[in-house]
Amino acid sequence: MNKVAHYLQEHIAGEVMAGADARKYFSTDTSIFTLTPAMIVYPRSESDVRKTARFTWQLAERGRVIPITARGSGTDQSGAALGEGIMMVFPAHMNRVLELDGKTGSVTIEPGINYGKLQQTLHTHNRFLPPFPSSMEYCTVGGAIGNNASGEKTIKYGNTREYVKSLRVVLANGEVIETKRISKRELNKKLGLSTFEGEIYRSIDALLEENNGLLKEFSLAVSKNSAGYALSEVKRKDGSFDLTPLMVGSQGTLGIISEATLDTVPHNPNTTLIAALLDDLQTAQEVIAELRKLPELPCAMEVVDDKLLNFVHQYNPNQLKGILEPPFSKLVLLIEFDNHNDRTQKRMTKKAVKILQKYQVGFRIENEAHKKEELWKIRHTAAAVVAYGEGGSKALPIIEDGIVPQDKFKEYIDSIYALFERHGLRAAFWGHAGDANLHMQPFLDLSQVGDRQKVFKIMDEYYRMVIEMGGSTSGEHGDGRLRGPYLNPLFGNEIYAIFQKVKHIFDPYNTMNPGVKIDVTFEAVKPLLRQEYSIDHLYDHMPRS
Ligand SMILES: Cc1cc2nc3c(=O)[nH]c(=O)nc-3n(C[C@H](O)[C@H](O)[C@H](O)COP(=O)(O)OP(=O)(O)OC[C@H]3O[C@@H](n4cnc5c(N)ncnc54)[C@H](O)[C@@H]3O)c2cc1C
Repeated sequence: MNKVAHYLQEHIAGEVMAGADARKYFSTDTSIFTLTPAMIVYPRSESDVRKTARFTWQLAERGRVIPITARGSGTDQSGAALGEGIMMVFPAHMNRVLELDGKTGSVTIEPGINYGKLQQTLHTHNRFLPPFPSSMEYCTVGGAIGNNASGEKTIKYGNTREYVKSLRVVLANGEVIETKRISKRELNKKLGLSTFEGEIYRSIDALLEENNGLLKEFSLAVSKNSAGYALSEVKRKDGSFDLTPLMVGSQGTLGIISEATLDTVPHNPNTTLIAALLDDLQTAQEVIAELRKLPELPCAMEVVDDKLLNFVHQYNPNQLKGILEPPFSKLVLLIEFDNHNDRTQKRMTKKAVKILQKYQVGFRIENEAHKKEELWKIRHTAAAVVAYGEGGSKALPIIEDGIVPQDKFKEYIDSIYALFERHGLRAAFWGHAGDANLHMQPFLDLSQVGDRQKVFKIMDEYYRMVIEMGGSTSGEHGDGRLRGPYLNPLFGNEIYAIFQKVKHIFDPYNTMNPGVKIDVTFEAVKPLLRQEYSIDHLYDHMPRS
């Protein structure tokens, strides 16, 4: 073991590993990149996280930078769960529910808790955490907070940021802060602190005041966003202040979350699910727009295209047998209603049916659990693409998370198909139609020079197109190393410069997951491209996408 690992092992209760196998295991996440950490730390408590951070801060003060990358389950597709220094892995020990308030439903957890397990626990209390990602079964809540994750229920319930009430965060120097919404008066107290926390409050407050106009003016016309830092949600008109929204989605670049308290909502498994079969994109756009105007939004509006279904039919024809048969319609839209009041749910369903009938769209309605499960299989077949591999070609997550304004839905899909055709690639998409947030993963072989070059060409064309449409480069997966280079084109020079300042305020020595989100260049990430892509970390579970 190297000296640093020795030192850390002497001072923390958790384990430190520096063996080649462990380092290799953590040298990949679910992105196209690879970066081998120097050592792995499994913290047993917040105190271990603090000691590690304090140690790296002291080293950095003396000119030696050893970064810390917080890691949940490493399902990140943007390369944000990779780092060359200390890989701090939370699921091993810091994985407990600390408190579940039966009255309010708010839940306090350690970051390494498996999301699916937490959801099961919440279900037994008739509650749930709505912004769950499709990777829920195999990711952590800490990682979901890191990415501001969202998923099929986000159209009605919003994204992770809207559920995180407070956080305990270990700062770069090892100090711990508790973030939550505080009043103007409480803010004034924070501004007077002589600690690093006080310095952060003063600097962020001043930055927000200085750039108030600029930040107010800028907004992306999308229903959710995981790109950049959520600065506009920190300070409200009434002077109240909360660093929590800034931390959510910051991908471990501002501090390390050691505890989180989240809101949950009542769960109703008795939903109504409609599978609508649409034959053209224009109709789809209009139907979705009308559904979005219903007095109550559907709790899900998910989509797959015929190219995905044809792919599944070709490679695993029995997967959808008896559920959906070829020839497939252009799009299948799954629309779900979950109002707890039966009559309201029926009323919304009726209204949705009227819209579908108006556009002469074929559909099927199900209320029984096993029938609904069958229909959901249509959406979950996307996993067939994600896990596909023949020869060296794999479905690469390189353009897997763009989101555009709702009225650009058709234009977006047309452009995606054109992009795939230009590059001679097989297209297929799936995702959150209600948010115009679509996922697609082109088949490319990273062992081939030509395909490696194509990766960056395709990304460039795709992200510029999304930005031109007024969209965001990331609806839910985060910027990481993959989309970091597009943050400046997305937000513009001035706002990007503010993001850089935020990073510097929290992390003056660049020890908090550097090379992610901020100051990411193509020159830095190109050498990190893997020689062969795989989703090794996921095969214990049935991948959903
Ligand atoms: C097949 C597939 C489907 C997916 N579907 C979705 C989806 O529907 N919606 C969605 O949003 N995402 C999705 N993802 C992306 C990813 O799975 C989620 O964002 C997930 O929540 C990440 O959790 P994790 O535990 O794997 O985090 P990791 O990958 O380990 O980390 C994610 C980020 O959070 C940071 N982080 C982790 N722990 C902490 C901590 N304690 N403190 C500070 N920062 C921390 C990491 O540094 C990293 O930047 C999908 C990925 C795959 C492979």
